[in-house]
Amino acid sequence: MKKLFCNIFGHHYSISKKVTSHIKEYKCIHCQKQVTTDVSGNLSNLTPELQDINRTLEHIYQRRHTTATQQQQQVA
Ligand SMILES: [Zn+2]
Repeated sequence: MKKLFCNIFGHHYSISKKVTSHIKEYKCIHCQKQVTTDVSGNLSNLTPELQDINRTLEHIYQRRHTTATQQQQQVA
């Protein structure tokens, strides 16, 4: 029934995880379908492979972000 709703009205995605400032993971609030932004900015099904890539990107992004913050603090 919930899936039928999505077929008629389309999925209602809400952000489930922010990977980087450009890449996010979304989950449909009705049928729990998960998608993610891929490298070209389109939504793709969240496969285990893409999930792996996102975990790696998230790690790199957070490390870079942390380093940038530390550098700013050193300058200040
Ligand atoms: Zn849905």
